[in-house]
Amino acid sequence: MEAKANNANGHAVLDVVEKTTRLSDAKLLYYKEKILERIDKEKRQIKFSTAKGNDTNDTSPTFKVLEEGQETQSKELNGKLLQRQTNFIQHLEYALIRIGNKTYGKCDCPKCQGRLIDEERLKSVLHTTKCCEAKNEEVHKSLKR
Ligand SMILES: [Zn+2]
Repeated sequence: MEAKANNANGHAVLDVVEKTTRLSDAKLLYYKEKILERIDKEKRQIKFSTAKGNDTNDTSPTFKVLEEGQETQSKELNGKLLQRQTNFIQHLEYALIRIGNKTYGKCDCPKCQGRLIDEERLKSVLHTTKCCEAKNEEVHKSLKR
């Protein structure tokens, strides 16, 4: 009983120490699993939508003159969505690399200089490299342009 409590304490202390510089291994693993899950989900969605896209490509357009306009529109939309999903996956993969070198979860804005991003934010935006504040500034900048 006592040994167990000591172990738990030891773990907790380690967690606190590491928190100041990086996320603990347990947490990195937790996020890694979440990210892998997300990549898997996105990839399955892409497969689904590209399978649909190929279907319309194979169909001879001569029989579908009336639907053509509509089809082009939805194809464009699909293309944009696909682009966004591919970008998203790319960012998630970068996040996996950061998990690998244990820099995941750190904010790279000049203000924070590697301080850890709020975990509530990390959980909602798994691939983020910036704290909320820095992200807001970025949005302001792009709006001004
Ligand atoms: Zn920051």
